[in-house]
Amino acid sequence: MNSFSYVRVSDVESALREGGAAGSRFLGAGTNLLDLMKGGVEQPRRLIDVTRLPLAAIEELPDGGLRIGAMAANSDAANHQLVRARYPLLSQALLAGASPQLRNMATVGGNLLQRTRCYYFYDTAFGACNKRNPGSGCAALEGYNRIHAILGASPSCIAVHPSDMAVALAALDATVRVHGPQGERAIPMREFHRLPGDTPQRDTNLEHGELITAVDLPASQFTKAHYLKLRDRASYAFALVSVAAALDMQGNRVRGARIALGGVAHKPWRATQAEALLIGSSLSTDLLRKAAAAAVEGAKPYRDNAFKVELAQRAIVRALQTAGGMA
Ligand code: SF4
Repeated sequence: MNSFSYVRVSDVESALREGGAAGSRFLGAGTNLLDLMKGGVEQPRRLIDVTRLPLAAIEELPDGGLRIGAMAANSDAANHQLVRARYPLLSQALLAGASPQLRNMATVGGNLLQRTRCYYFYDTAFGACNKRNPGSGCAALEGYNRIHAILGASPSCIAVHPSDMAVALAALDATVRVHGPQGERAIPMREFHRLPGDTPQRDTNLEHGELITAVDLPASQFTKAHYLKLRDRASYAFALVSVAAALDMQGNRVRGARIALGGVAHKPWRATQAEALLIGSSLSTDLLRKAAAAAVEGAKPYRDNAFKVELAQRAIVRALQTAGGMA
């Protein structure tokens, strides 16, 4: 591991001052960043430990929404009474991620910033990885690409985003609050993560020195919800495909629908066309199949991951059936 300096801060102002310096990275629980540093994938010159910042509160907002502090542990957020009651989709997604030990450590802010688990990104013996080393190529394009993207990829990178929590937050129209050298701003969750384009080294639209302070959830009617995660083993594995599905029902009629997919793209993939097909209609398996087909329209699989196109559609149908009480 390369040498680096370490500083611990106790207030946001100090964090911003320290985090703005070249080569600095904020350190939360370190459940991903430290692995990347040990493997030589990331080599920050300075770590700014933000774990002591007073940003772990989970509190109601005046408009009926909820604010989750960036330093809240994933397990605390998942098990919070208000999250479970009003945002069951988020609670389920958080509990589907990682392992109990990791969820106890990992923070909400850090979860948003975790990096792809593409094998070639982690293994520095592979020279070609545009995300790790811009301009070097992409070993996954011609390599073993079973876990990779089927939507929104580019010739520069076909990696997928690994977070479960982020998929639920995209479905729930959350907002990420950040503080930075230019002040405070709010980034809609759907714009927080990026598609790879020709700059796959950038996972998010955060600028250097910006610190995530909270995630805001709007008031939600989407209590009929299901997070379905399909993976190679029952726990402690990343999604091959996941679906965050939520419905707002009036009798059997769909008043509102939210569908987001994980494991299929470089960012949580919101299926707005599929949502539009459902709204105003009565739930039926036929309708769900049409919505599922719309959700994967334009999918472009690679050599080893064509199965994801069918898997995603079946997962969407099943998640919506469960959310809507049909299963
Ligand atoms: Fe690197 Fe992305 Fe290609 Fe994986 S898919 S090797 S992360 S450029």
